[in-house]
This record gives sequence, C-alpha cells and structure tokens, in this order.
Amino acid sequence: MDPLALLRGLLDTTEDAARALVGRERIRLAVTGLSRAGKTVFLTSLVANLLAAGRGARTLPALSEAAGGRIRRVFIEPAGTETVPRFDPEAHLAALAADPPRWPERTEDFSTLSIAIDVERRTSLGGLLPERRVTLDLIDYPGEWLLDLPLLRQDFATWSAATLARLRAWPAAATTEFLAFLDALPAGAPAEDALAKRGHTLYRDMLRACRDTHGLRFLQPGRFLNPGPRGDAPLLWFFPLPAGARGGLADLCARRYAAYLDDQRATFLDPFFSRFHRQVVLVDVLGALHAGEAAFRDTAEALAAVAEVISGASWLERLLGAAPGRVAFAATKADHVPTRARDALAALLDHIALGARGRAEASGAVTTCHAVAAIRCTEDAVATLEGQALAAVRGLLLNGGQGATIYPGEVPMKPPEPAFWDAGFFRMPDFQPPRLDPAGGSGVPHLGLDALLAWLIGDAL
Ligand code: GDP
Repeated sequence: MDPLALLRGLLDTTEDAARALVGRERIRLAVTGLSRAGKTVFLTSLVANLLAAGRGARTLPALSEAAGGRIRRVFIEPAGTETVPRFDPEAHLAALAADPPRWPERTEDFSTLSIAIDVERRTSLGGLLPERRVTLDLIDYPGEWLLDLPLLRQDFATWSAATLARLRAWPAAATTEFLAFLDALPAGAPAEDALAKRGHTLYRDMLRACRDTHGLRFLQPGRFLNPGPRGDAPLLWFFPLPAGARGGLADLCARRYAAYLDDQRATFLDPFFSRFHRQVVLVDVLGALHAGEAAFRDTAEALAAVAEVISGASWLERLLGAAPGRVAFAATKADHVPTRARDALAALLDHIALGARGRAEASGAVTTCHAVAAIRCTEDAVATLEGQALAAVRGLLLNGGQGATIYPGEVPMKPPEPAFWDAGFFRMPDFQPPRLDPAGGSGVPHLGLDALLAWLIGDAL
C-alpha cells in the first residue's frame, strides 16, 4: 500500500481521536448505488428524516432508539471550503414538496453534505453534560466508479479476457459493431490514436446501450459511463483486446489501462474512498428481476465482484482507515412489493453477496443486507388475477396521479432456477411520491431506513 495513504489514514485516526476528546466527532458515510438504484432519493429521504428527527418527530424510530432517545438537534452544516460539489437537499426537498410532488432530479457526480447531530449526554447519576456534536459527512459517489474496484486486482490481459467472455453473452444488438471492429483489427495493429479512439468510442457506446436499453450493470471501466467532472481524456482511449493481441495498439491499450487505474487511485480511491468509515451500497434488485434473466445475472455478478473487494480488505487496512469498517447492502424500492415479500428481497440480496460476506467476516469486516424504500409510495393490497387473490401493492401513478393496484410477481429468496423466468414479470410503473409537508416537520414515509441507519451509525450517536 502507498506509504502516503497509510500516513493519511493514521493522521485521520489521530484527528478523530482528538475531536472525540473535545466532544466533537465526525463519521463519514459513503452512499453509492449501481446506476438508477435510487441514490438521490435515498440521500434526500435520509436528510429529510434526520432533520425531522431533530425536531422531535418519530420518523426514524430504530435510529432514535439506538441513540437512546438523546438526539436533540439536527441541522445541515454550511458548506466549507471543499472543492467537491455539494449535494443539494433544498432542491430535492422542494421537488417532493411541489404540487403534485415530483421525484428529485438524479445526481450523476460526486457530492458531499455534512449534517450536525447534537446528542444529549448525562453522567452515570443522570446529571446533564454539555451536548456532544456528531458530524455525519455524507459522501455520494457514482456507482460506476465502484465497479473499478475489482479492476485494481486485474492486469489488462486478465480484465480483457474476463470482459470479452462476459460480452459474448450480451445482446447482439448492442455488441455487433464493437465485435466487428475487433475482428477487423489487423494482427500487430499500430499504436494509432485514431484507431484507439475509434475502438474506445465503439466500446463505450456499447456499454451505454447495455446499461440504458438492456438493464446490464457489470460494465467497466466506470469512467467510460460516468466520466466525472474531468470529462473525456486520452487516458480513457482504450478497450479490451483478445488474448494474444500484440503490437503497438495492444501496448498502448495496456499502458492506458494501467494509467487509468493509477489515476482513479490518486484522484478518488486514496483521497476519498480510503477515508470512508461506513458505506452503503444501494442495489435495485427488483428492477433487475423485472428486467429478466440476463440483467439479473449481470447485476448479481457485478454486486458479488464489488462486495468481494469492499468488504474483503485486511484488518490492517481497516485499522488504518483504509477501508470502510461497516458495509451495508440495501435492496431499494422495497415498497414495490407487499410486506410479506420484503424479507425474501433482503434474503435474495444476501444470497447474491453471500460469497463475499463469508470472506469479509473471516477478515473482520461487518456487512449486512437490508430491504428499504427510501420513500414509501404504496400500501399493501390484494389483486385478483385469473380468479386468484394475490398479495399486491397500491399507489398513485406518477403520470396522472390515479390509483393503481399492481401485482409485482413473486420474489425468490435466492437466485432463481431457469424455469422461474418463464413465468415473466410485470413491468413496475413509476409511482408518485407522497407529498412532503413543506415545513418538513414530519419527515418522509419510508420502509426500513431507520433500521439501516441504526446499524450504520447508531453506535456513533
Ligand atoms: P439514482 O440514479 O440512483 O440517483 O436514482 P434516483 O434516486 O434518481 O431514483 C430513480 C427513480 O427510482 C426515482 O425517480 C423513482 O422513480 C424511483 N425510486 C427511487 N427510490 C424509490 C423508493 O423508495 N420507492 C419507489 N417507489 N420508487 C423509488
């Protein structure tokens, strides 16, 4: 590990210890999710409900209980001098408070927000002590970058082979052009930038189509899909090549792959990722189920690869602040299924990440799987299908606001057998979010957000 990063980790630990002595503590919670997982909505609900809890509303009962009922005040800290963009809760909350309410605009890039939580302290005899301030730093980063973590353990040839093997199972409509380009490359192709850029563009467009049209998620490298604030650069002009490719172009792609990883490490992983204390990874498991077998399998593989890296770091790295100490995986939009299916949803997520979890527990990491709805839009209902009564959900549709009862299909407790896919799933509509009371006093209805937060940060309060 880079000695400078180790030093930064040590400094951080000392800084935190000093803060604890003067009654201030800082806890960094990173939030990410595979694309469209519900990250913006999750952060918006988290902020709205924490603020409401600070005003005494019982919107996060499990978190309040974990804090011994001692949360006294919560407020958003003014932005400091950071160069990273700030998550914009005001705009997101205003969208939910509009008439009719709208979903917040999604965020694409890196952003942060600090929330101060004042907690009452008492002596063992019940006397009041000065309040303790815990600062919760929320760090929101694109899930696409998360998918770069497994790359750090692979060289260009290994990554190329794994990617091209996966790609053969992707829909032909998306891959034909890139594969034709690869087939037409002459043996020993020269290191020409026009060629490198053409290959990169075809590869990147294929990744985009796979994500946007086919619901695939295991798409690397992350910055091809989400270039971040620095946009396109020659560093990104590479693509996977078949085994045995030799010559100038192959060398150029391999060099750029290595430079890309160095750059991700220097600009994101070392300064930010290594400093997270806690991490939540959001996954739209239901969306993947509804998108069909290929999308589901792909999401499961992506999640397993990511889980293996982030929860499998060594004790030493963890001790020096080089990896998050607690990692929660959360299946989002749990209000798309009725109450009785939510345990199955959490179990399914657990199953997908289980291999990694076993390893993580061996190395001392703590991981968990939850099913949550950051904003609950539905109630349980009963649907009748071919004369049969089925557990369903009822909510208002986003377009038009009429009520609809939807049967979402069954949620398997583990990755389903092939026959499962024959039955077919129904497409879930977008529901209208409940309207936020403009004063924000009562928070936002959710499912399980409090239990997840209690697990993630309850011990720090
Ligand atoms: P991001 O791309 O991960 O930031 O995704 P968003 O947070 O923007 O969420 C994408 C969409 O998913 C939203 O516009 C909503 O339609 C839907 N969504 C997100 N969270 C929930 C939830 O808790 N319940 C329901 N019913 N829909 C949700």
